[in-house]
Amino acid sequence: MAIKDKPQPPRGRQIGNILFLLGGLFLVANLFLPQLLGPPIPQVPYSLFIQQIDDGKVGRVSVGQNEIRYQLQGEYEQGGQVLRTTPIFDLELPKRLEEKGIEFAAAPPPRNNWFSSILGWVIPPLIFVGVWQFFLNRSGGGPAGALSITKSKAKVYVQEDETKVTFADVAGVEEAKTELAEIVEFLKMPQRFTQIGARIPKGVLLVGPPGTGKTLMAKAVAGEAGVPFFSISGSEFVELFVGTGAARVRDLFEQAKKKAPCIIFIDELDAIGKSRSTGGFYGGNDEREQTLNQLLTEMDGFGAKDGTVIVLAATNRPETLDQALLRPGRFDRQVLVDRPDKAGRWKILEIYAGKVKLGEDVDLETLATRTPGFAGADLANLVNEAALLAARNNREKVAQEDFNEAIERVVAGLEKKSRVLSDKEKKIVAYHEVGHALVGALTAGKAKVAKISIVPRGMAALGYTLQMPTEDRFLLDEKEIRGEIATLLGGRAAEEIIFGSITTGAANDLQRATDLAERMVTTYGMSKILGPLAYEKGQQNSFLGDNPMNPRRMVSDETAKAIDEEVKEIVEHAHEHALSILEGNRDLLEKIAQQILATETIEGEDLQSLLAQVQSV
Ligand code: ADP
Ligand code: MG
Ligand code: ZN
Repeated sequence: MAIKDKPQPPRGRQIGNILFLLGGLFLVANLFLPQLLGPPIPQVPYSLFIQQIDDGKVGRVSVGQNEIRYQLQGEYEQGGQVLRTTPIFDLELPKRLEEKGIEFAAAPPPRNNWFSSILGWVIPPLIFVGVWQFFLNRSGGGPAGALSITKSKAKVYVQEDETKVTFADVAGVEEAKTELAEIVEFLKMPQRFTQIGARIPKGVLLVGPPGTGKTLMAKAVAGEAGVPFFSISGSEFVELFVGTGAARVRDLFEQAKKKAPCIIFIDELDAIGKSRSTGGFYGGNDEREQTLNQLLTEMDGFGAKDGTVIVLAATNRPETLDQALLRPGRFDRQVLVDRPDKAGRWKILEIYAGKVKLGEDVDLETLATRTPGFAGADLANLVNEAALLAARNNREKVAQEDFNEAIERVVAGLEKKSRVLSDKEKKIVAYHEVGHALVGALTAGKAKVAKISIVPRGMAALGYTLQMPTEDRFLLDEKEIRGEIATLLGGRAAEEIIFGSITTGAANDLQRATDLAERMVTTYGMSKILGPLAYEKGQQNSFLGDNPMNPRRMVSDETAKAIDEEVKEIVEHAHEHALSILEGNRDLLEKIAQQILATETIEGEDLQSLLAQVQSV
């Protein structure tokens, strides 16, 4: 272990202390300087002054606002002496002086006064700043010191030199942990990777619904690697004054580089990273755009020479992000931090149950079974609610009863956010999703089915099948689009085969399938009947991107009818295809669906070996 140098106080603190001292010094000087400048001038009452004028003793008078000074004439006993008096509101004075032929003038601001009035302006702020710095430093305020104040930059990020969070505090997101363990390695021994010329990734995007532990994971990465953790929320940038967002980003990276290796965590990345083409009118939010550009510049700018700075960011709406953010060298890695499945919830419950006094009758596994759709934060909240209830009921320990009541409370709150499914619904969702997966495994060209889940997610999806492209696609051929449409219909097809009826759950699938089919006909010219004509007006600027605003070209009634028929043809054909695939693999459909009902998610190798058994028809 290297011996650490005695920590230097940050520069901000030194400057603060100096200011504090100077402030004190000036204050002392201001109070005592007038007295130090010479012997005090005797003060006389105004009446005596008038008397002396009348007696003709006064030589020269200088009338100030708060003080009149005058000199006695030479031939009298105190000749030449300077006296002062406090003026009263006396309009007769100039006349009186004139009559006696006394030379008088308005007093020039005396040196003393000039000096102290300047000091009066300068000192209080100095003292204020000094005192402020003093307290700021004592309370361990971060790196934004006096220097930053002069640049009028308040600190917008939080810096923690050590986080005590580790991977042990995060449960139920094993895949994400495995992927982030690599980042910890990068931070711990970057040399091992740079030595052989590898480039350490700069940005990792944590994607997942709220409350699943993205922030916690980011902290845990810093904690595991033992590096400082800088965090900031995207929405805070947006609230800043115009023109400051970019400066803050620069400042943040500057500070972080000084502390490298370290982690910068940007929460709610979507707040600054919203796609420029969808975020309202182009250039509608200049401020956000500048901040985003600065972020991109900083990410491109730092390299190996700056040490290992890894930027973790979190979002629950990855689809809204600007593509520029996801390019290589930026947030080119994405880690899914998903709602936990049953086993995951069990582990999370174990973590939090360990922090309260638990009764013997509490069965965490049952609790995990009863809480599908709960994210980590909901489970933490659940345990706390139960503990509160136990305390309210004057119990020594938290009983199962308390948990039951707590679940009801939390579910009532959750039901608005995400749905908690009944057993019947769960079964339907399971078959539906496996239907997507099986058809997808056979038809969807290069996209691999990576995960099936019946853990509800967000508002709309009750379950989902996640397909990951294995390579970047810029062109899709007709067969692939048809495959995609069939995959979209796979869910409904499975419901038809197994339950003989259909539910509302496929609405979104049908929407997307129909859109795709329509675009095949009207945009891509893939219909034999309608030919290579573009029936949409205007440009379709992004590949398969939706632009519902594209107006249709003026077409004859017959053409409109032909388009409708052709679209219907394509969708129905895909539907037949999906049905035949599922009928041919009915046993596998049953098997995977039963498995997923037990575990709620299937992914990784388990899933691949199951999908490898799909027979083509
Ligand atoms: P997110 O950033 O994804 O919205 P947070 O990390 O802020 O979620 O989670 C909020 C809190 O919920 C955490 O501080 C932690 O107490 C709890 N929590 C969430 N997910 C997990 C998890 N996977 N394991 C343990 N605790 C979790
Ligand atoms: Mg968070
Ligand atoms: Zn579906």
